[in-house]
Amino acid sequence: MINLYSDTQTVPTENMRKAIADAEVGDEHSRSDPTTLLLENKVAELLGKEEAVFLPSGTMCNLIGVAINTSPGDVVMLESNGHILRSETGGPAIVSNVLTDPVDGEKGQFTVAQIEQRLDQTSRYRPPTSLICLEQTHNFAGGTVWPLQLWEEVCSFAKSKEMRVHVDGARLLNAVVASGVSAETWASQVDTIWIDFSKGLGAPMGACIAGSAELIDKAWLWKHRLGGAMRQSGLMAAAAIYALDENVERLREDHARAKRLAEALKELGAEVVEPETNIVFFDMTSCGKSNYEVVQELSKKDVQVSEIGNQIRAVTHLDIGDADIESAISAITQVVND
Ligand SMILES: *Cc1c(COP(=O)(O)O)cnc(C)c1O
Repeated sequence: MINLYSDTQTVPTENMRKAIADAEVGDEHSRSDPTTLLLENKVAELLGKEEAVFLPSGTMCNLIGVAINTSPGDVVMLESNGHILRSETGGPAIVSNVLTDPVDGEKGQFTVAQIEQRLDQTSRYRPPTSLICLEQTHNFAGGTVWPLQLWEEVCSFAKSKEMRVHVDGARLLNAVVASGVSAETWASQVDTIWIDFSKGLGAPMGACIAGSAELIDKAWLWKHRLGGAMRQSGLMAAAAIYALDENVERLREDHARAKRLAEALKELGAEVVEPETNIVFFDMTSCGKSNYEVVQELSKKDVQVSEIGNQIRAVTHLDIGDADIESAISAITQVVND
């Protein structure tokens, strides 16, 4: 089975399992799980923030990030294909009582002019926009990386208007590796930012959200409130620490394999969104078959990809090697030529 469905599909390696087995643990609630504390310090340092807190999922990081940066009735501006809007069951509306204001981005990115245009509509009928959410890399746009200049413009503008910035950094480290810009630089102007351990980093679960001590204190309240406070979480924190130490630099390999796959797809006549990281979106309809058919036929050949919108998505990760990519390419070639 060649599983290109998502980078969430990785299973822990032997060495990661060993790190889990050897972890020193305690009670997270009373801040006495040493491995979780170590992870939180490591992430805070990586992102250049005062504190970080370990949460069971990236979705909970977004839920809490929105909660601690807004008041009920506020408007949250985000990109219209962002994960928060598309794949989190309306969490911000239910948990934080906020309105979401989607901005149509390009490659998942939007400009100060676009934000300004919407703020100009401010009137007594429109509640205040208090938060802007950015996604780096942007999943549904194809693992795209914000250009640093645009990112900084948007962050500075937000600050000038006293708006907070929250970053969905599920794949921030893919952006770091692809751009050569440090995690700390991406994080420097934002209020809250998180990274996921269960995506390309290959850990079983968990994510850490970072920010000022004051904000992370508030995040703790929400962690308890939402049932995200854990006990011997050090077992999973150990996997995350292992992932940060061992699995960041290798993300380059995933990016190179995504490029190789994209080249082959283009040669077959598919319409391909040029991959910047580990996600390849493509459309096979120009090859004479519907994307649905292609996904089904690939599945019969033991290649898993997913149909998202009008495209197919393939994601490279830790469990996919060069030979897997070549096998996937020949399976796709067979499906096209059948
Ligand atoms: C996967 C993902 C999330 C949610 O993370 P989970 O750990 O699966 O809850 C949020 N944002 C983006 C961009 C993602 O890809």
